[in-house]
Amino acid sequence: MASLSVILLVIPEKLFFTTQSLSPNDYPSGIFGDQASGGSSTVKWLNKDKSHWLCELNDTSANPYCSWQLTVVGKDGKGIDMSNFSTITLYGKSTGVADYFRVYLRNRNPEYYVFNDTSTTKYNVIELPTSSLSEGIKIKLADFKVADWWLSANKIALEHSHPEFNDVIYIELQNATFHREGKQEFQLDRIELEGAIFSQELLYKIIVLTWISCILALLIFRVFTLNKNLKENIAYQQELVSINKLLNLENQKFEDLAKTDMLTGLLNRLGIRDILYEGLTSWKRNKKPFSFVLLDIDHFKSLNDTYGHDVGDKVLKTLAKLLTENVRSSDYLARWGGEEFILVCPNTNLSEAQQLAELLRSKIEQMKLTETGPITASFGVATMATASLDSLFKSSDKALYQAKEQGRNKVVIHR
Ligand code: GH3
Ligand code: MG
Ligand code: MG
Repeated sequence: MASLSVILLVIPEKLFFTTQSLSPNDYPSGIFGDQASGGSSTVKWLNKDKSHWLCELNDTSANPYCSWQLTVVGKDGKGIDMSNFSTITLYGKSTGVADYFRVYLRNRNPEYYVFNDTSTTKYNVIELPTSSLSEGIKIKLADFKVADWWLSANKIALEHSHPEFNDVIYIELQNATFHREGKQEFQLDRIELEGAIFSQELLYKIIVLTWISCILALLIFRVFTLNKNLKENIAYQQELVSINKLLNLENQKFEDLAKTDMLTGLLNRLGIRDILYEGLTSWKRNKKPFSFVLLDIDHFKSLNDTYGHDVGDKVLKTLAKLLTENVRSSDYLARWGGEEFILVCPNTNLSEAQQLAELLRSKIEQMKLTETGPITASFGVATMATASLDSLFKSSDKALYQAKEQGRNKVVIHR
């Protein structure tokens, strides 16, 4: 598109021109003197082709003249439409007494032309030096005027007083302007009409309009494509949302599984992670007490050894159930690993945690186990003193160790 525009702009103007050649032989022509205007000038042909004539001007009227008239009406009855041409070039010769000659391009228009009355054809006229004719004189149609005498003789309205060339039926050459007597010879070989197929101005307009149309078309195309893509994306997003909903449910299921201890159904370490984080944050923000109760079954290895691993598992499950039933709903119970459990107690101070541990300890002690006989557990209790989960855990672990050291089935608090 850009290269085409450049090519169109650099192409020589001449290439956009069209020409039409008229030979006087192709159309009927006639000559006449000024008798009709009361003069006595005479004219005669000098050749058979009727392209060469001789005028004898007699100064007996105010404006002596001789005329040569080419009737350029086609078989369809129409004159020549010269409105698309910009120049008319006359090739010929003229010698004699007349310095000037007139060129008439006589146009028809139903607005002023009366059928069969040739005097009502519009007299578009220009006056030129006879000497110029020999060189081939190029005349711009824009330089023609409508003869004043014709405008007034026909009472032409202002809107029709400008030159018109859309239905020219006569091309007429006439001499002379000045009152001079004598001979004037005329020869007309060829008439050439020339005009731009389209003007440079029109060419620029076409280029600009084409660009604007292309840009508009591209924009519209872009809008359509974007709209289409947008719709596709929305549909895709909706699909994703519904798939995600489905997957979220699944994820939740897997997430819950991942956070649950398979044997006891309690939370595992991963399951308790968020709760630990929340407890830490809450302690940091509001200094709300936050305590751990760590418990470990005493001599569990020997229980396993005595009754077997499966019985050991059952004991773990029964214990988990007992613990769950006896902790508060605000506490979080998790299996920390093996036969070790952790009770995370938000908003619970050391003494409250100690009481809870004591309660659990005694419940475990009293727990009825059909296959094994009673078991006991040791407890380590600590509350958060510094903003560190690690040190809280270490403190409760230390307390638990001390409980073991002190003979097991004990609650030890870390101070
Ligand atoms: P302590 O009183 O010092 O805690 O002695 P303990 O025997 O309980 O402690 P130890 O750490 O020596 O042994 C823990 C045992 O717990 C060893 C292991 O076989 C058992 N155990 C850990 N996890 C499971 C489990 O999932 N099922 C069963 N049945 N036993 C387990
Ligand atoms: Mg242990
Ligand atoms: Mg143990």
